Amino acid sequence: MNRIRIAIQKSGRLSERSLELLQKCGLRFVRSKDKLYWYGQDFPVDLLLVRDDDIPRILLDGVCDLGIVGQNTAREVILEDDSRELEELRRLEFGGCRLSIAVPEQSNIKEISDLNGCRIATSYPALTEDLLQQRGIKAAMVKLSGSVEIAPGLGTADAISDLVSTGTTLRANHLVELGVLFESTAALYGQRGNLPAEKQTLLDRLLARLDGVLQAAESKYVMLHAPRNAIEEITRLLPGAEHPSLMNLESDPDRVALHAVCRETLFWEHLESLKGAGASAILVLPVEKMLG
Ligand code: ATP
Ligand code: ZN
Repeated sequence: MNRIRIAIQKSGRLSERSLELLQKCGLRFVRSKDKLYWYGQDFPVDLLLVRDDDIPRILLDGVCDLGIVGQNTAREVILEDDSRELEELRRLEFGGCRLSIAVPEQSNIKEISDLNGCRIATSYPALTEDLLQQRGIKAAMVKLSGSVEIAPGLGTADAISDLVSTGTTLRANHLVELGVLFESTAALYGQRGNLPAEKQTLLDRLLARLDGVLQAAESKYVMLHAPRNAIEEITRLLPGAEHPSLMNLESDPDRVALHAVCRETLFWEHLESLKGAGASAILVLPVEKMLG
């Protein structure tokens, strides 16, 4: 059966953005009644909606070909199983968070290097242990599947290693962040190894579309008028732009219309320096899709 199956989180922080990303790649799904399996309509790609923690093993078991999950979750499984079979295919631009060490406000642990011999409560014991070991620290892991932040108060751990995005939960539990062990985002994973040729072709097509969507997300289409003698300088000032298109202006032989795609973020400072170099009528437009 030459269909690709993708696992995404059923409901949680990654669900909406995962689905949105796949829809931007042109995928449409028939939502089944039990809501766990969605059939792909125009493109032979189906969805399986599961708990995020199950996604790495679903890939390793060959139940799905691709999965979108946090790097934190995938790395934990890779370390736990000592498995190199899981391959990160693309890093995605959502689901950003950090795995941080935090301690009670009154703790005498003041920095990460004080953690030697301490007990650390975490849902990511393998990842935490590995990251601490890289810094030459040996600590005991207390594995908890949730509510990690209450462990120090209960006396079951001296510190925690947990996912943080704003720090509100830490403050509410009178914990202070000592330092960041790992910066995570969501990523697209697959299993290493050979796919049947037809499936590989399908996967390549999907990845090309995905790259197009990811590139378009940070790209902008810029249109402006420039003095003929400043074209070179203005092109240099456009971040990540190559080969602008130039068009003559009927109204002014000394100026040209210049169009370019900027593949990097365009800040107000960029526009100001373009203006300073003589550009006028500067327009910045979002790019929806890109291919080739
Ligand atoms: P499930 O029911 O699917 O197991 P969950 O509660 O384990 O859900 P979520 O809280 O939805 O999972 O988090 C999923 C992923 O979102 C995390 O593994 C992490 O990669 C990312 N994430 C982003 N910001 C945060 C945050 N502030 N706290 C926790 N996870 C975050
Ligand atoms: Zn989970």
